[in-house]
Amino acid sequence: MSLFAFLGLHQSSAVVVKKITPTFWWAGMHNPELQIMLYGDNIGSCDVSLSSPDIALRDVVKQENPNYLLLYVDLSEAAPQTFNIILKQGRKETVVPYELKQRRPHSSEVKGFDASDVLYLIMPDRFANGNPANDIVPGMKENKVNRNEQYGRHGGDLKGIENHLDYLEDLGVTAIWLNPIQENDMPGGSYHGYAITDYFQVDRRYGSNEEFRQLVEKAQAKGMKVVMDMIFNHCGSHNFIFSDKPSTDWFNFKSNYVGTSYKTASVQDVHASEYEYKIAVDGWFTRQMPDLNQRNRHVAQFLIQSSIWWIEYAGINGIRQDTHPYADFDFMARWCKAVNDEYPDFNIVGETWLNSNVLVSFWQKDSKLAAPRNSNLRTVMDFPLMDQMNKAFDEETTDWAGGLYRLYDYLTQDLVYADPMNLLTFLDNHDTSRFSTDDKKAANLTRFKQAITFLLTTRGIPQIYYGTEILMTGEKSEGDGMLRKDFPGGWEGDARNCFNASGRTAQEEAAHAFIKKMLNWRKGNEVIGKGTLKHFSINQGVYVYERKYNGKSVVVIMNGNDREAKISLTPYAEVLPKPQAKDFLSGKTITLGKELTLGNREILVLEF
Ligand code: CA
Repeated sequence: MSLFAFLGLHQSSAVVVKKITPTFWWAGMHNPELQIMLYGDNIGSCDVSLSSPDIALRDVVKQENPNYLLLYVDLSEAAPQTFNIILKQGRKETVVPYELKQRRPHSSEVKGFDASDVLYLIMPDRFANGNPANDIVPGMKENKVNRNEQYGRHGGDLKGIENHLDYLEDLGVTAIWLNPIQENDMPGGSYHGYAITDYFQVDRRYGSNEEFRQLVEKAQAKGMKVVMDMIFNHCGSHNFIFSDKPSTDWFNFKSNYVGTSYKTASVQDVHASEYEYKIAVDGWFTRQMPDLNQRNRHVAQFLIQSSIWWIEYAGINGIRQDTHPYADFDFMARWCKAVNDEYPDFNIVGETWLNSNVLVSFWQKDSKLAAPRNSNLRTVMDFPLMDQMNKAFDEETTDWAGGLYRLYDYLTQDLVYADPMNLLTFLDNHDTSRFSTDDKKAANLTRFKQAITFLLTTRGIPQIYYGTEILMTGEKSEGDGMLRKDFPGGWEGDARNCFNASGRTAQEEAAHAFIKKMLNWRKGNEVIGKGTLKHFSINQGVYVYERKYNGKSVVVIMNGNDREAKISLTPYAEVLPKPQAKDFLSGKTITLGKELTLGNREILVLEF
């Protein structure tokens, strides 16, 4: 039952409870402790008791603000039930029912994402508008839609994604990552989702919690996992936990605005000053995004529970954690462990936007550089590889610099990573220029094919940004909204519909057909999803690497120059077990004699 069902029913009651978080919970969780946060005018002066004999009230914690009470209850002996939280002020009494649900069968066995997957990143406001009726929700602070305004809301929603699950399944992706869908009831810029105002509620302009749960179920029925975006570093300034905060120490700098430097290298820097470190980690992302103090144990438990709540409620397969290095290291490590204690196979990817593999590697689980501390974060984002890929396919390649040499050179340094196969790899995302920054680059299909082939065959967990398959363009210097354009055909009345082949230009269709072919070949292909990587230094501008698993292998041969290349095959004998092999891309049989001649920028994907 919803909280609203009993609000106002107790006119003579002690207090009116405005919010309860989590809104409900489950019996039989690995961690038996639950924090229940009660919010209401002067609720802090109430005495608290529970109606259930098998639920122990361990602690009742008051905050500076009398409008809060934090209950800590022990559920180790509790069966699924609805019990009453009884609040007393003198002779007045308020009874608040609280539900402990039955867990879904096998909910702790949820399968996380890994290198066998390809994630497709969607910005929900900009993908498809499946329900124009929810575009404007009365009472919410940003209550207009304007598709011509790059920072405005455009009306996309969960129904729009659900309507295109067939498209995504056909494309061949195996997971979708949604930018945040939690409520962002902010006066402006709410479309991007990174200023959460309610950690337990889907923004009503995207749909309901139940619609999200159903979307996850439908995606999973089609073999696709769902990754949810979460933000623990900060919340939106209109979140009630900030606007009427429990205590000033729930936010860093005692809830006073000090901006972050964004220079998170200082977290790993052995020479960093204390000042530098504090500004980076405790500074606020923006004035509208106050920085949560995760060293406060109540804040920590609130955030951890919010993530477990969504996993258990919606059955999601993964979390992408925003601004991971901006939050407290020890808290984030504790959070990752708490999630895997409940869901052993669940995966989390942290947004580790750092400029070098040394700094990124520090954040990965079991990093030798972070030892004896351990982040417990299995997947980190390979931003340095993104930088290299955005240059590699535009340059001529020599044996010692430029072009594909960048990729070889970068991967030779993978020893720095505790687990290179668990890196998230990508050409772009919602915060960067698109791989096709402009029409000229989008017109270069050879560049696109080399990049997609490399991304989908090298080590790691590839992520593709929506619209990449139809060569959507975007340049960051023109504004973030330009990186987040509407998918053509997602809105009724759009001039063309790129979800259908008939709506795509010949160039877009060629790109779409290529990536679809590669994705469907990669799907379930254990050589790529589980295989080892072995590569060779650049030879005559040509890059050669092998993926191998269980006696099968794939060898990629890529010419990094706009001219023909003739290479001796002698150095590659150890990865060429047969005198000929079929090239997956062309379907032709390639003879592997003493020498091999490759056309301009030609790619071979040989299967053994
Ligand atoms: Ca809508």
